[in-house]
Amino acid sequence: MTRKKMRYRYRRFPMLSDWGGIKSALGEMKGMGYPPQPVLNSNGGSGVYDEKWFVNTLTDKVLNHAEKGMEYPFYGEPVFDAPLVGFVRGDDPIFDTFKTVIGPHHFTPAEIMAWQAEKNGVQAPRAGDLSVVSFVMPITQKTRSDNRAQKTWPAERWAQTRLHGEIFSQLFVREIVTELMNHGVLAVSPDVTPMFNKKRYPEVGWASPWSHRHMAYAAGLGTFGMHDFLITEKGCAHRVGSFVVNLKLEPDRIRPEDIHAYCLHFRNESCLACMKRCPAGAISRENAHDKEACYKHVARSTRYCLKHYRIFIYGCGLCATGVPCESGIPKKICDIMG
Ligand code: SF4
Ligand code: SF4
Repeated sequence: MTRKKMRYRYRRFPMLSDWGGIKSALGEMKGMGYPPQPVLNSNGGSGVYDEKWFVNTLTDKVLNHAEKGMEYPFYGEPVFDAPLVGFVRGDDPIFDTFKTVIGPHHFTPAEIMAWQAEKNGVQAPRAGDLSVVSFVMPITQKTRSDNRAQKTWPAERWAQTRLHGEIFSQLFVREIVTELMNHGVLAVSPDVTPMFNKKRYPEVGWASPWSHRHMAYAAGLGTFGMHDFLITEKGCAHRVGSFVVNLKLEPDRIRPEDIHAYCLHFRNESCLACMKRCPAGAISRENAHDKEACYKHVARSTRYCLKHYRIFIYGCGLCATGVPCESGIPKKICDIMG
């Protein structure tokens, strides 16, 4: 069946045929539906897997991969712009801090890699021999512009980005992990393991055991805003990914101590544009981002996306568009930081 025919069927019966969307949702919520992990080839020899290789490979995948594009009616449009890439070593003390700040359920790179090592019958590597590769994929100008015009529910391009972006990034990370494992380098993508299930924890509410956003902060790629999105040099409208490798890669970005360094509100500058954009009242001056209220609104969007866009996905991101941190670090902050 041609891709065009498949897409027609996919659009006609989204509840029956949008396996990608259903699998993505099940994977995120229940840790289900993922393909088996690649197997370590202990005689694989070694390639040159340095920082440059990861930057070039990730950039090439995001910009040139056969699956990089949107579906009908935006067929052929790229989902993302060129990524930002950063690294953080597995023994960085920040991972202990995450156990306190995010919660004890959050994996360290050593813990998730120990799972992969055990599966492959090899000794778990030391934390200092591991690195996290983190990447931020900026959402395109067209998609941001569409979402900027929305008042309650996500734009179609945004919904497609949410769905295809997730599937696409899991696909190319899996390709990279498979290549590394074929060449004898232990690697793991935490969000495609059975342990990755987003659930409600008593202390922290909805959370997953591996936060790509916190990995990106650790790698110096950005800091958090009032809306909990990461504000990077390319803004806060993006998708984030990360994976762990048994390689010593050098971090090459400066990580601000202040986790809110790039948010106007936390720098005592007037803003709160994200609060005004939120249709669910989930952002407030007093309580910042209310994850429960946000989650309820985002979950309700599934029905809207299914009815209007014929895809099985949830999303929102209104607070990440039409705000001063949408496509870069706000100018006032750049001026303050010199
Ligand atoms: S819109 Fe303003 S207050 Fe909200 S995250 Fe961005 S900079 Fe911070
Ligand atoms: S994602 Fe949507 S519901 Fe959640 S805080 Fe942002 S605007 Fe509000």
